[in-house]
Amino acid sequence: MWLTELDAAIGDGDHGINLDRGFQAVAADLEATPVPEDPAVVLGGAGRRLLGVVGGASGALYGRALTTAGARLRDAAAAGALDRRGLAAIALGGAIDGIAALGKASPGEKTMLDALVPAYAALRDAPSDLALDVVMRRTADAAQEGAQATIRLVARKGRASYLGERSVGHLDPGAASSALLVGCLADAVIGSITETG
Ligand code: ADP
Ligand code: MG
Repeated sequence: MWLTELDAAIGDGDHGINLDRGFQAVAADLEATPVPEDPAVVLGGAGRRLLGVVGGASGALYGRALTTAGARLRDAAAAGALDRRGLAAIALGGAIDGIAALGKASPGEKTMLDALVPAYAALRDAPSDLALDVVMRRTADAAQEGAQATIRLVARKGRASYLGERSVGHLDPGAASSALLVGCLADAVIGSITETG
């Protein structure tokens, strides 16, 4: 598994296994009951499930990312209606803040944030008259570019930081998985456009 291979190079080789276990459990939850209409409820439930079943840093970090995203969406819904682009930006911003707070991390430290923060910037800065599918593609591309850019960074957080300069030359597994997750967010938003016309 690709994410696990990346983690074997600069960590302990469990990142793909961790996320596979977590998202399988989330998928099982969603299959067991009718999926709630409210994305805040879906994200909150998924985040709590990840916290419960995934060991390792990424379980706690992605768990907090999704519960924070869910809480922000709930607050935003209470404050008034938002379009899909606005909701995606609020969810992504919440995920970033959750990871940054729990991980005490900032961009440039070779973590998930190095994919998520450029993605958020691309989403926020896209012209307001640009079609939503193009905006979401740009967002996903920015996450991929951000992840690739971690290759030249020195890891400052998590296990990879023990390697210091030797972490240079390797893609950060968390940034790689975050880019995949932003790709899923983009696909989901684009899918919702064609569903509703
Ligand atoms: P573990 O390091 O416990 O084995 P994983 O392998 O599942 O956990 O996840 C490792 C990834 O978690 C790293 O590639 C990095 O992106 C991210 N990470 C680790 N520590 C932090 C932190 N303090 N803040 C943000 N992200 C972090
Ligand atoms: Mg690991």
